[in-house]
Amino acid sequence: MLLFISSIFYFSNNIILATTIDTKEVSSEFINNINNIFNSNEKIAYLTFDDGPSPSVTPKILDILKEENIKATFFVIGKKVEEYPEIVNRAYKEGHYIANHGYSHNNSILYKNVKSFIQEIQKTDLAIGNAIGVNAYSSHVFRFPNGFMSNVYKDKKNEYVKLLPNIDYTYIDWNALSELPTT
Ligand SMILES: [Zn+2]
Repeated sequence: MLLFISSIFYFSNNIILATTIDTKEVSSEFINNINNIFNSNEKIAYLTFDDGPSPSVTPKILDILKEENIKATFFVIGKKVEEYPEIVNRAYKEGHYIANHGYSHNNSILYKNVKSFIQEIQKTDLAIGNAIGVNAYSSHVFRFPNGFMSNVYKDKKNEYVKLLPNIDYTYIDWNALSELPTT
């Protein structure tokens, strides 16, 4: 499994993704802030990590973040969360934001049909909630496996992205990578 760093250079003045939101209620302001993340004059880098948790990599990242007193956002894979809940719990307890990268990271499941797409997100939220001990957890932020911008399953993505507001969700892409994703 590859866990890569995407240091994202957003333009925003008031959105901090490393914020704890642990109810199903999400403010429209939160969603708006994310959707308008590129529209500010201020340059802020948000550090995000995808494809974990991984027992070999994530604890090392958490150690470094703790040492440097930096908060990050972890876009986790639901099935990995079920495998390593204690790592996700540690990240959450140390103040990082736990966001949604889908349950299986498998495009043929994610884009099978509408129901499957929604389930990929909701099963991941459930796994996160179980790991961190928060009832009905919703991260409200989804990152498409392989990115939204890529041409993979483009038509399906354009169709399904419209469903996200129905479940109080928005999505965010990366725009700078430490290395190219292979998964
Ligand atoms: Zn990924």
